Amino acid sequence: MATTPAPSMHHLTRAMASDAAGAGARRILVCGGGVIGICTAFFLAKKGASVGLVEKSAIACAASGKAGGFLALDWCDGSPLGPLARASFRLHQTLAQELDGPRAYGYRPLNALSLTFSEQPNAYKVVAGGVSPWIDGPVRRLSTIGTPETTAQVHPKLFSETLLRAARDRYGVEVVMGEVESVEVEGGRVRGVLVGGELLPADAVVLALGPWSNRLPLLSSIFRVSGVKAHSIVLEPHDPKAITPHALFLRYITAQGVEIDPEVYPRPTGEVYVCGMSETTEVPDDPQQITPKEESVAMLHRVAATVSSHLRGAQVKEEQACFLPCSEDGHPIIGRVPNVGGVYVATAHSCWGILNGPATGAALAELILEGRASIVDLEPFNPGRFI
Ligand SMILES: Cc1cc2nc3c(=O)[nH]c(=O)nc-3n(C[C@H](O)[C@H](O)[C@H](O)COP(=O)(O)OP(=O)(O)OC[C@H]3O[C@@H](n4cnc5c(N)ncnc54)[C@H](O)[C@@H]3O)c2cc1C
Repeated sequence: MATTPAPSMHHLTRAMASDAAGAGARRILVCGGGVIGICTAFFLAKKGASVGLVEKSAIACAASGKAGGFLALDWCDGSPLGPLARASFRLHQTLAQELDGPRAYGYRPLNALSLTFSEQPNAYKVVAGGVSPWIDGPVRRLSTIGTPETTAQVHPKLFSETLLRAARDRYGVEVVMGEVESVEVEGGRVRGVLVGGELLPADAVVLALGPWSNRLPLLSSIFRVSGVKAHSIVLEPHDPKAITPHALFLRYITAQGVEIDPEVYPRPTGEVYVCGMSETTEVPDDPQQITPKEESVAMLHRVAATVSSHLRGAQVKEEQACFLPCSEDGHPIIGRVPNVGGVYVATAHSCWGILNGPATGAALAELILEGRASIVDLEPFNPGRFI
């Protein structure tokens, strides 16, 4: 996205004002340029709406650019998230066929393994040449928990950028950089959002602000979205060809006997992403001010070095942190904001926002433009459940 300058706020105001003159034009503003806002803008525009996307910092600058990008068909079965996840897993397959050639964002089916590792001396024997030769650390209890039929991955930042580029180039979505300061309501109905003190007019507004959702009183008066901070590193191993497509879900015991549950995802780019080390702490206003904690990053390097000799001494590409947006009941919040016409919300996707972005966006587009979501029942995610 950095290659194409976003139109100025004034340009967007003018463009939308002139659209308003067109017969029956639906002007929709999606606020938040993370995966949820981008997917929503994409599906709204694909259905013919005139869409603006407002982002205060940079596209996919927060969790949507720093996540693992792991996707699972059936890991949410048995919870309210099950149907959303299944629909979204299928949509990822369709989107990859439509948009991912030639390897724009690295969609690929892969295997997933559950393993226990220990740093404690002689706790477990080193399994050499086991399921895959690069996993050569002290491992125990290895089981397959996902196969290429049920698990896959994308590079989340490249996915978000590719989808937004398609939304803009194919369907005319306009990107505006600026902070949404408030949602303007008149007579019980939305009339736009205030950005830099100016009204951007809209018939409908979607608030996809991730862990910043509570900054708007319209939302914080109904529910609470908190941010859980998590860390990640991206490594470039010396011999990327040795690293097979296996996502690793670890139970990891440190030398001090502390148990943690990091995850390791090799990517088709040849990089290896390692994440974990979460904590509850205040979300800074500016996403660019989210900095990783030194000890947490150091722990992830220890994990990488223990799991594989190929990751020991690997080139370090990223050391970063970001926030999972979480609701009070642990489920996403998607749908109409109660007591005000034309305002919708999509947030609190916790650790499954990359997976569930497409079905969230597609369902919201149906709800907003057709009055009802058919791809998946949004009722379990209704913001009204908190009233
Ligand atoms: C370490 C880690 C690993 C993860 N791994 C996976 C995974 O493997 N698979 C998976 O499915 N999910 C994963 N997730 C979860 C996923 O990343 C999130 O659920 C998802 O990115 C949330 O997207 P979002 O668009 O809601 O929020 P965000 O990505 O936080 O985006 C919100 C955007 O809104 C903007 N914004 C905020 N306030 C304003 C305002 N007032 N005006 C304008 N813009 C504003 C912000 O700048 C930001 O760009 C992971 C998360 C973490 C932290």
